[in-house]
Amino acid sequence: MQIEIVRKNRLKRWRIVIKDKVYFYAPRKMSDLLINNAIAQYESWIKKSFSERDKIVREVENIYAQNSGKIPLFGEWVSAPENVKEFYKLTAQKFFNEFCEIYAEKTGVKYAKITIKDQKTRYGSCSVKGSLNFNFRAVKAPKYVAEYLVAHEIAHLKHLNHGKNFWRLLSDIFPQYKEAESYLKNKRNALFLRYDNFGKKND
Ligand SMILES: [Zn+2]
Repeated sequence: MQIEIVRKNRLKRWRIVIKDKVYFYAPRKMSDLLINNAIAQYESWIKKSFSERDKIVREVENIYAQNSGKIPLFGEWVSAPENVKEFYKLTAQKFFNEFCEIYAEKTGVKYAKITIKDQKTRYGSCSVKGSLNFNFRAVKAPKYVAEYLVAHEIAHLKHLNHGKNFWRLLSDIFPQYKEAESYLKNKRNALFLRYDNFGKKND
């Protein structure tokens, strides 16, 4: 296990980030001694987190290897197009345009615009001004899950929080919401892990 120490000017506190390697982000003036102490203190957590991530990466890579030349799309494996990221983005744009319209009408709300984003951790979001954002990776999940993300963000246009009224509205417009939520939680790694490759290699 390799730990790469990265010093940053504007950082106030150190932090550890587990990716393909372990990164230790340190404020510019943090001494080597303090860095080594912090690493020693968190060593078992670092090892555990790194090996867990490594295991998931191998699982995901295994599934991709078994489906060589294919990519997941709406929960199924389809032939990989030449530019995977571009394909996902265009598919996502089309899907979210279509379904936002359906759910906005169902809910009686209006939205400003839809943007397809390349976010590392989020599935979707919305702004006070009514802009909706969706992660293009959502189209890797089964259709009902991607549809759930639409219902979720549209419901936020009425209730900009996760309060009781929000969930009540959401269960009205999307009764399967609990199933979709647990899919997103359980498959989080499979949906997000391959982001490291997008744009760097020909995924
Ligand atoms: Zn929400």
